Amino acid sequence: MQAQSNCRDIVLVGGGHAHAVVLRMWAEDPLPGVRLTLVSPKVDTAYSGMLPGLIAGHYRPDEIHIDLVRLCRAAGARFVQARAHRIDPCEGRIFLQGHPDLEYGLLSLDVGATPARDLPGAELAIPVKPIDQFHHHWQQLQKRLRESSTSLALGVIGGGAGGCEVAMAMAYALKTQHRSHRVQIHLIHSGDSVPEGYPPRARDLVARELNRLGVHLHRNWPVGEISESGVRSTEGQRLALDHVLLCTSAAAPPWLADCGLALDKRGFIRVDEKLRAPGYPNIFAAGDVASFSDNPLPKAGVYAVRQGPVLFHNLRAALSGKRLRDFRPQKHFLSLLSCGDKRAIAVRNGFALAGTSLWHLKHHIDRKFMRRFSQLPLPS
Ligand SMILES: Cc1cc2nc3c(=O)[nH]c(=O)nc-3n(C[C@H](O)[C@H](O)[C@H](O)COP(=O)(O)OP(=O)(O)OC[C@H]3O[C@@H](n4cnc5c(N)ncnc54)[C@H](O)[C@@H]3O)c2cc1C
Repeated sequence: MQAQSNCRDIVLVGGGHAHAVVLRMWAEDPLPGVRLTLVSPKVDTAYSGMLPGLIAGHYRPDEIHIDLVRLCRAAGARFVQARAHRIDPCEGRIFLQGHPDLEYGLLSLDVGATPARDLPGAELAIPVKPIDQFHHHWQQLQKRLRESSTSLALGVIGGGAGGCEVAMAMAYALKTQHRSHRVQIHLIHSGDSVPEGYPPRARDLVARELNRLGVHLHRNWPVGEISESGVRSTEGQRLALDHVLLCTSAAAPPWLADCGLALDKRGFIRVDEKLRAPGYPNIFAAGDVASFSDNPLPKAGVYAVRQGPVLFHNLRAALSGKRLRDFRPQKHFLSLLSCGDKRAIAVRNGFALAGTSLWHLKHHIDRKFMRRFSQLPLPS
């Protein structure tokens, strides 16, 4: 089955950060005669920069989620609640689970990435994304802790910035809020320092904060296998754990492999500087799922957000035959890592600082971003 379409049909697949920005801008400045559709399996989408604050108990779930249905209403866009699972780029059609397939004139993909699950036994672990599933597990875990008096050992695999933030947020929530010292948090990393890819000063500060919160850091500990009883390193060491959380490197959605689009080595969609898929001028991709062939970027929401205005312009320009813009990623940007309680580490240009005022700065920036999606020009 398929729904009607014409070449002025733009289909956005995934409610990621870039598409949220496109819809927000469309709400202010719609293009008459164009039908805009958002396809998303969920009615809302999480802003992951605030996930550590949700885990730590600083935010409620609704404070870190964008209401996609309301956003579509403001943009005059159609909302289709479904999960995409295949594209036919030659026919210009996208296939959805539990919904008739859609034809598109222009297609844009912003479906994100999930932690890699290629370790043996990874199915026993809880991935940090999708965030809603992770949050459900996190609530169950806290409930279990409240209702029993047993001790608990939790392991976070992956020493990137996200893994460090998650470990610190959990340590803070469990030990401070729940006043429980029965919990041990282990952060397990294959490299020799955390967070991966950060300058030495930032690594020192993160190590200090992890230590302050009592997080056990295991460096040079490549996990070879996850089992019911914990993890085993590639060198045969064992660590007993009750629950294992995955904050491993970003993996591409597997369904893209059969879509006929050019993918990079890790399975992400190759795009040019205009965010277009090579060979298909009517297909765009943004956020974690997009990969710049010549200059792969770290998988960070900040790029997805900044691609939003370029994507907004280029989708409209592609319909009206105007000139498309290039996305030029910033070389340096301010990175703010939250440290469980209301402290943060700011990193920029190789410099790093820690403190409570930096958490308030992060809180201010994040809340300001989220306000753009709650204060909408809704039709009466
Ligand atoms: C703990 C943690 C903290 C982080 N903190 C930061 C930070 O402070 N700053 C930063 O820059 N980055 C941060 N990141 C990285 C950031 O999460 C990602 O880079 C960012 O979310 C990517 O945004 P996106 O738009 O690509 O996709 P996402 O935000 O992942 O959204 C993808 C959307 O697509 C939808 N979707 C998925 N599959 C389908 C499908 N088949 N069909 C239709 N829809 C689909 C999903 O429901 C979701 O709504 C953090 C990551 C983690 C894990």
